[in-house]
Amino acid sequence: MNQSLHLQGIGMTSRRTRMRLVQRLRDEGIKNEDVLEVMADTPRHIFLDEALAHRAYEDTALPIGHNQTLSQPYIVARMTEILLESKPSRVLELGTGSGFQTVVLAQLVNEVFSVERIRPLQEKAKERFRQMGLRNVRTRHADGGMGWPEAAPYDGIIVTAAPSEIPEELLRQLADGGRLVIPVGGDKQELTVVTRRGNNFDHRVIEPVYFVPLLGGVIR
Ligand code: SAH
Repeated sequence: MNQSLHLQGIGMTSRRTRMRLVQRLRDEGIKNEDVLEVMADTPRHIFLDEALAHRAYEDTALPIGHNQTLSQPYIVARMTEILLESKPSRVLELGTGSGFQTVVLAQLVNEVFSVERIRPLQEKAKERFRQMGLRNVRTRHADGGMGWPEAAPYDGIIVTAAPSEIPEELLRQLADGGRLVIPVGGDKQELTVVTRRGNNFDHRVIEPVYFVPLLGGVIR
């Protein structure tokens, strides 16, 4: 089951502010109404340190520590919209980070598997999922470059850090008809979508993006 959020005590005061953000996402071309609704329902400020919380509804990426960033709302919405086109049920996410993208996904698909290589970020995100009463998210502290083979195949894989090339292993973990949404490249990155049809992989480039790099190894 897709999940709705338990938000008691989290503060709903900012819904009006979030509606302004949603209008902006519409203006920028986001069309999927389910995605827009979830963006309106998900409090982004709780994924940030208090000192930055007042900037939560700006359409910009914001730092979450350890040289990482909470992605720009537009890009979260765009990647989610593209992922949903193939109506996924089980989704793998690489780069849990703050957990914002994870929580957006958890409200739109049946099951989310999310991998993060930096332990303190993973722990914080897990605590947020618990607070929000999410029961359809599994997390793992690991280098996600090899995916999460034990739980494969996935109808959708979303990667929120950029490798220089698409890891082959991720393609193997895609179900037939499933799609991978991933930023690829170094200084110049392209948001890329790969759709699996049997053993054919159809690549499509969406738009230029800028993500932190997908790195190897784990941090404890
Ligand atoms: N979706 C997150 C984005 C965080 S930034 C959010 O909106 O908050 C990208 C994240 O990918 C960082 O937390 C970084 O630690 C993580 N990451 C980078 N390389 C990784 C890897 N190989 N395996 C798992 N996570 C990785």
